[in-house]
Amino acid sequence: MTYKITLIPGDGIGPEVSEAARRCVDATGVKIDWEIAEAGADVINKYGTPLPDSTLASIRKNKVALKGPLTTPIGTGFRSVNVAIRKELDLYACLRPTKSYLGVRSKYQDIDLVVVRENTEDLYAGIEFEEGKPETKSLIAEIEKLGKKKIRPDSGISIKPISITGTKRIVKFAFDYAVKHGRKKVTAISKANIMKFTDGLFFAAAREVAKEYAGKIEYEERLIDNMCMQLVQKPELYDVLCLPNLYGDILSDLCAGLIGGLGIAPGANLGEGLAVFEAIHGSAPKYAGQNKVNPVAMILSAVLMLEYLGEKAAANRLEAAVAGVIAKGEKVTYDLKSDRNDPSAVGTSQMADAIISALQ
Ligand code: NAD
Repeated sequence: MTYKITLIPGDGIGPEVSEAARRCVDATGVKIDWEIAEAGADVINKYGTPLPDSTLASIRKNKVALKGPLTTPIGTGFRSVNVAIRKELDLYACLRPTKSYLGVRSKYQDIDLVVVRENTEDLYAGIEFEEGKPETKSLIAEIEKLGKKKIRPDSGISIKPISITGTKRIVKFAFDYAVKHGRKKVTAISKANIMKFTDGLFFAAAREVAKEYAGKIEYEERLIDNMCMQLVQKPELYDVLCLPNLYGDILSDLCAGLIGGLGIAPGANLGEGLAVFEAIHGSAPKYAGQNKVNPVAMILSAVLMLEYLGEKAAANRLEAAVAGVIAKGEKVTYDLKSDRNDPSAVGTSQMADAIISALQ
């Protein structure tokens, strides 16, 4: 059969790593008819928006997308297109497995952690009030009246909604993932000692869900600050980590650091019958167009996509090819060499070629 899949090349390093991943998937022999869809700053002039309706329509129709990273202006400008895609399509579960590959330079070996990040709520909800605006002033006045707390008049405000519904479905996702993949434990993580009505609610709702899995999957809770230290000191104690949106974003970069960097850390955004696969890393603009960065994070995201499609054998072959090329350490990008200036490092497309050659 032929799958029709949306391919969003992205910007910055996106087009290079997306093309590498597309070639590797095609080389597995799985038949895919790629439908190219645009998004990002470069298409604003053409469509009047960084996220054209046609792109969302393509994902809705095809149900599966592979997406390169997209740049978000920092501090000002348009809101994240990446976050908008997740929210528009209700891709509520962000799955980020981080696992050690032999041959990668890292202080740690045998890391095998799965971050499950809630993808639609929390401080990422985009409910923000700009400093100095009339609505911000009236919100501050209302909060002072209702909450009997002082807020400095020159404050900007971001709202953090965390619901029982949103929490229960992400925790259920984490437990179901644990059951399906033979994992032992789910750790819920928040800062419930300080934010009692949001992070406290996250733990309370998580505990309810955990009861349904008692005797099958172990459940525990950690505070996010302690969790960061624990992961650096004894990552082997942890298994599946379930977090609200912001903590999940930060902690998955930490986990990527444990396995050797963002260049090899894949991800998936999953909803009810819809899925968008993308690396954890961003558009790394300073490397754009140089054929320099590591394509593996994007290729391993495509491996997750093949698994999702039910193409387990192709997924295993592609992952084995990636692992083989990394273990040999010859045809790898600069970030996988012990000296980052090693002249024998190859480019993005040459590493993809080596992975394709290693496919059996
Ligand atoms: P980044 O992930 O783009 O890059 C940070 C650093 O990580 C790079 O400078 C590079 O040293 C390293 N790195 C990233 N990808 C790599 C790869 N494939 N191979 C080797 N090294 C790699 O993070 P940033 O600089 O904070 O963000 C740049 C832009 O990307 C921002 O506009 C941000 O909003 C956006 N972003 C997008 C996504 C997404 O599309 N889902 C995710 C994160 C950041």
